[in-house]
Amino acid sequence: MEGRVAVVTGASSGIGRVIANEMASRKVTLFLVSNEPAIMDALTEVRVHSPQSLAVVADVTRVDDLTKVVDQVMEAFGRLDILVNNAGITRDNLLMRMKDEEWDAVLAVNLTSIFRLTRLALKPMMKARYGRIVNIASVVGATGNPGQANYAASKAGLMGFTKSVAAEVASRNITANCVAPGFIRTAMTDKLNPKAREAILSRIPMGEMGTPADVANAVCFLAAQSSGYITGETLHVNGGMYMG
Ligand code: NAP
Repeated sequence: MEGRVAVVTGASSGIGRVIANEMASRKVTLFLVSNEPAIMDALTEVRVHSPQSLAVVADVTRVDDLTKVVDQVMEAFGRLDILVNNAGITRDNLLMRMKDEEWDAVLAVNLTSIFRLTRLALKPMMKARYGRIVNIASVVGATGNPGQANYAASKAGLMGFTKSVAAEVASRNITANCVAPGFIRTAMTDKLNPKAREAILSRIPMGEMGTPADVANAVCFLAAQSSGYITGETLHVNGGMYMG
């Protein structure tokens, strides 16, 4: 991966931040994207290993922001080798109570924005005849989950989207894959009460939650040049709670 240029969305916190740091330690030049100014703290970390990296505050649901992201990457580095679509949100509710806004918000960030950014990123990748696209899905895209009809639909949709893209661009030496995390220790899961945590752990054969580093490791594997014959796949990182 050394010398490659990667865009990572949702890199200000959680899993995205660790993916960015892991790639930086492998001498990848990063272009970090998030909706919050906190992205500049993430950039400071990344620059320890990858000093030329850049970051921008951009809302992935805004078409203009996405266009600017790809334009800025090409202007700064002249190439875009790796795209990690990691930004994602939840708006959980039982279906009977789910509001249109909760459905729309999740689909906009978790699926529509990825369609748009991937379409933009494919232009330079097709021209260069090289690309690695890694989309962060979720185990619930494969299993479903009560209270997460919107989120599960977005992540299942992402897997279908990824397979279609993979088939379309394979001849150009561009791969598209998903990494589907199970329960990962992040700010979100830290807030779980002991009972909920116990219930989750009882479903995980490994007996513990994963770490963002476990996910980042899988992303780096699929983003490497040497993974060029793997495409349209979903790599599950879930301690055995679902075996696809
Ligand atoms: P997180 O800490 O909340 O990170 C989400 C990132 O997405 C943040 O950097 C956030 O940036 C960014 N983001 C959200 N909306 C955005 C928007 N409109 N425009 C630009 N950036 C936006 O969550 P995480 O747990 O690390 O999750 C990362 C990915 O892993 C998500 O796709 C999630 O669905 C998936 N996942 C997580 C788990 C888990 O257990 N944590 C399990 C399965 C899958 P700002 O808030 O700074 O704008």
